[in-house]
Amino acid sequence: MVVRMRHTRSHTGNRRSHHALKNPEMAICKNCNGHHRPHHMCLNCGFYNGRQVLDLKAKADARATRVAARQGMRRAAKGEADAVETTETAK
Ligand SMILES: [Zn+2]
Repeated sequence: MVVRMRHTRSHTGNRRSHHALKNPEMAICKNCNGHHRPHHMCLNCGFYNGRQVLDLKAKADARATRVAARQGMRRAAKGEADAVETTETAK
């Protein structure tokens, strides 16, 4: 239904009475006692239904090495750029 006419404050309030946000339902992890979404893997420990489905530590380590490698490449590229700049200014 298209809202095209001016509504009273009461009408507006009635419409907005359903707009409040509810807290999401959370379940307790059996492994780490943390909160997780029901029927979803625990984001703290990677367990679902008492079974490890994702090795979050290995994932974090892989990401750390990836980020470190990227930073190293960036630093090397910057070092080369600096070297080029210094040679150009030396001329
Ligand atoms: Zn957990």
